[in-house]
Amino acid sequence: MRVKRVALLGATGSIGRQAIEIISSRADLELCGLMSGSQPLDALGLEHGVSHLQVGGSAVPLLEACEPDIVLNAIVGFAGVEATLWALEHGVTLALANKESLVAAGELAVAAHRRGGGLLLPVDSEHSALFQCLEGRAPETIDALVLTASGGPFRGRSAHELANVTVADALAHPTWSMGRKISVDSATLANKGLELIEARWLFGLPYENIEVVVHPASIVHSLVRFRDGALLAHLGSPDMRVPISFALGYPDRPAVAAAALDLEHGLDLRFEAVDDETFPLLPLARAAGERGGTAPCAYNAANEVAVEAFLGGRIGFLDIADTVAGALDEVDGSPARDLSDLVAADAEARRLAERRLVPA
Ligand code: NAD
Ligand code: MG
Repeated sequence: MRVKRVALLGATGSIGRQAIEIISSRADLELCGLMSGSQPLDALGLEHGVSHLQVGGSAVPLLEACEPDIVLNAIVGFAGVEATLWALEHGVTLALANKESLVAAGELAVAAHRRGGGLLLPVDSEHSALFQCLEGRAPETIDALVLTASGGPFRGRSAHELANVTVADALAHPTWSMGRKISVDSATLANKGLELIEARWLFGLPYENIEVVVHPASIVHSLVRFRDGALLAHLGSPDMRVPISFALGYPDRPAVAAAALDLEHGLDLRFEAVDDETFPLLPLARAAGERGGTAPCAYNAANEVAVEAFLGGRIGFLDIADTVAGALDEVDGSPARDLSDLVAADAEARRLAERRLVPA
């Protein structure tokens, strides 16, 4: 058995901690490098016998030093972009949780992936589901991808009712336990907007063939609609260890100690339409995706700024979408030729979003 070396970026986060649990339980995986944004890593490194550690800065020196077979990118936000491009360019298997990097760098990432020729395995549960439903299917048989959304903690509310919700309300996700940024994104549905753009780059379908539907129970992780009307779906408990393990173990599908669905007591398979009016960050993502160039990068950057401001009590919940919409109106959105163009587009959108922040 060949042991695969895993570089875990975002090691101290929600995905990072669950990944460590999986890697520790498997004889065919070992950690070779750990990275965090600001939390110290010495104790974690000592516990797992990892000497390549990095706190903040560029991921590239760490990746070059630790010689991974797999990069698990579980950094939050645009900060993950360099690691995504590095792994894709070098043909190193990329297990991707950091959706923001693919949203921001879509075209550059696809080109790097083509040159590098390695595996790109989604960790996001919806995309892991789609990846599995799509495996081995001829492209012409596929009509649409159907992303499911839980609807978040504010499903069923009107915009008016969301004016005064608190950070604690927004972080109280009904079905998934996750980091703070993605929890707020789930409450605004920006998370589904990011996932829509992520799906476009992962699977190469145009936006008009990617649908989003609300499914509150988070049991059906996504579906593929085929040209004969058949839908293939991926079902399971909402437990991120399952897609993390699938990506790290691909193609072997190792066992995971996740709770099995209780079919005999019935499954809640209700679906409903998304309320685009109350949750404008989803249609804004679709529009940014269709506009192309660096518009998705700007969408992501402005959203990061707005979420940070909301978490810090500087703006209200509804201001998040207003900030992103306003910044998108102002950016030029022309395509990025390389990473430095992309970094500039990200910085410009952040600057425009910052300028719009209004005191809560
Ligand atoms: P988190 O906030 O719990 O953890 C984020 C990690 O990134 C931490 O280890 C932090 O130290 C690190 N980090 C932050 N800034 C960094 C920087 N500049 N350089 C290097 N590391 C940095 O977030 P999370 O919930 O684990 O989410 C991580 C990523 O996975 C996000 O892109 C999120 O959208 C995606 N994701 C998460 C879940 C989930 O269930 N948590 C599900 C699907 C996708
Ligand atoms: Mg997801």
